[in-house]
Amino acid sequence: MAETSTSSGGRPSLPMQGVPQPSREEVMRLPRVHISSHPVMKHKMTALRDKNTPPPAFYNLVKEIGALLAYEATSDLALEQHMIETPMAPMIGERLAGGIGVTPILRAGLGLAEGFRQVIPDVQVWHLGLRRDEHTLEAMEYYNQLPHKVDLQVCYAVDPMLATGGSAIDAINVLKRRNIPRLCYVGIIAAPYGLLKLSQTHPDVDIYIAALDESLNDIGYIVPGLGDAGDRQFGTF
Ligand code: URA
Repeated sequence: MAETSTSSGGRPSLPMQGVPQPSREEVMRLPRVHISSHPVMKHKMTALRDKNTPPPAFYNLVKEIGALLAYEATSDLALEQHMIETPMAPMIGERLAGGIGVTPILRAGLGLAEGFRQVIPDVQVWHLGLRRDEHTLEAMEYYNQLPHKVDLQVCYAVDPMLATGGSAIDAINVLKRRNIPRLCYVGIIAAPYGLLKLSQTHPDVDIYIAALDESLNDIGYIVPGLGDAGDRQFGTF
């Protein structure tokens, strides 16, 4: 996730201390917000959140949840007709119209992007690393593998934790400069604060999440959440 907290004058900062936050009820029916209600998702989410789940199992769960989210988030993709011959007869089939892109926000988005690839193996993966400039708070791309030629019907920015919303908003800003017809954000857990910020800043973006949690703590972590999604995937505690 892109850095959103800074320290000033040597003091450790508590970026969310005293910041008013909306409740779950206030944000759960925002337009274009899709919160999974699938029982299998809820089952996997409990295992994911459990602090005793070790990194290899955690990473596998992120991939599995990514695949379930990909299935939900692609349910309205455009199709085109495609003529084939089965062993029995010719028929007009359907296939996805135009390419599909997935943009993992480094590094925590990597597992989710793998889940997308399990559902649609030929997605284009556009890696994006973002960092906030401490002084200007501008998003800086420190890593970018976005192609110059764009031929996509949709691109999904994926990052597991929608906390303050900063990195998701910045990533969508970067992708909007590529003139992709449709952009979506896919995450695992959202806090009401980040969900509202993303939805207000980019009202044209569909947001797919597995769960909506209660709030952010003073340092911007989601509660109850699951801790640091990057550290838990890659074992860097
Ligand atoms: N990023 C995380 O990995 N976890 C949080 O709770 C918030 C941001």
